[in-house]
Amino acid sequence: MLVDLVTIFPDFFRGPLDYGILRRAREAGLVEVSVHDLREITRDKHRTVDDRPFGGGEGMVLKPEPIFECIEKLNVASRAERLAGQASGSAKESVILLSAQGRRLNQAVAQELAALNRIVLICGRYEGVDERVSEHLADREISIGDYVLSGGELGAAVIVDTVVRLIPGAVGNENSTRQESFTSPGGEIERSVDDAPSSTCASGGLLDYPHYTRPADFRGMAVPEVLVNGNHDEIRRWRRRTALEKTLRNRPDLLDPATLGEEDRKLLAQVTGKKI
Ligand code: SAH
Repeated sequence: MLVDLVTIFPDFFRGPLDYGILRRAREAGLVEVSVHDLREITRDKHRTVDDRPFGGGEGMVLKPEPIFECIEKLNVASRAERLAGQASGSAKESVILLSAQGRRLNQAVAQELAALNRIVLICGRYEGVDERVSEHLADREISIGDYVLSGGELGAAVIVDTVVRLIPGAVGNENSTRQESFTSPGGEIERSVDDAPSSTCASGGLLDYPHYTRPADFRGMAVPEVLVNGNHDEIRRWRRRTALEKTLRNRPDLLDPATLGEEDRKLLAQVTGKKI
């Protein structure tokens, strides 16, 4: 995958993309990241990237010219072709504007992006980006959450991190990206070949279950007994129950009773004391 980051602060990306899975994926050639400095594309003496808003009001707005010219140099498919690709499910490239007004990033969006060959991320600053970038250049706007950042760079780093770890080969054990929070591999709990619960149970779109490691007793805080007694079936049920419990407590919006299997309903009834 090719990742292009378009920014007025290229040095910002020194660091966030240089550790762990991202670093290994880059070293292994699974992903190639290029950072493009918008100021280098400007032609005036002062390298102006922003200007005052039409209609008045606070702050400055990123100008369209350097952003359009930068994207044009990247030789991506036209906006019409990219949109048609999205509609038919055959998209290979996406030009994304980071924006608080965008569609909110979630695991499903990350999975959609991970299937592409190239993503271009445009980072806004100040009051935002001239709207013509969204209307005529980017094929989508993505927000990383319902809050306002001071720039798109952190959002772009979040997208790159989330997407790259989904590229096959980026994470050592692929099961660990198939079976974690927000990932829905088909509801019921999967088992590994030897019938032992795999390292992370399939979460079925729920939050992940709690993880513990050694020591079994840390300052008097013991790990749940069920995890050390080695009964795989009980461990599997405990994990599913705690995942349901945690989802109910922290993110009830993710719990759709209609998609829960028989076993889940029973486990949830144990947690809530009510029939689901
Ligand atoms: N005036 C805008 C906020 C501008 S913040 C508004 O009220 O919506 C400056 C830049 O930070 C934006 O152009 C965008 O690129 C980035 N940004 C801010 N919040 C973001 C979010 N939640 N997700 C992604 N990018 C965001």
